[in-house]
Amino acid sequence: MVDYPFLLEELKRILKEKQLKFTRQRELVLKALYENEGHHSPEELHRKIQELAPESKVGIATVYRTLALLEEEGLADSLSLDKEGKRYEIGLKKHHDHLICTRCGKIIEFFDETIERQQEEVARKFRFRMTDHAMKIIGICHECQQNEPNHTNEEKH
Ligand SMILES: [Zn+2]
Ligand SMILES: [Zn+2]
Repeated sequence: MVDYPFLLEELKRILKEKQLKFTRQRELVLKALYENEGHHSPEELHRKIQELAPESKVGIATVYRTLALLEEEGLADSLSLDKEGKRYEIGLKKHHDHLICTRCGKIIEFFDETIERQQEEVARKFRFRMTDHAMKIIGICHECQQNEPNHTNEEKH
């Protein structure tokens, strides 16, 4: 995991490059993302910023715009969920993929060497130069399955 001072310097550099002002509001978006592990909607991050710094008056539009900027520059990553829109996490983490529960919204991270290798294999087969990949497994998490009315302990296939 990268450290916060590094991310902050990166943010300052990016804003300067884009001739945008470094503001506390913009910094707070980065900070909220950094301090809250996991994957969050812009609205969630907005609430966290209000808790973190009630006096800062960061608008939701600033949160959206700053997240877009952070993502463009690799300091944030996003996951698109069908119904709830985008979820953001801090960028520059070790590469990982996601399991997404459509019932409770839980997002589980995983890394699987075989899947990684297999994807490279597929790309090679199509003479495709892979620059990135995003693997999402969508479904119902273990806890939500436990709560299903007709749940049995047998694994169903
Ligand atoms: Zn669930
Ligand atoms: Zn993740």
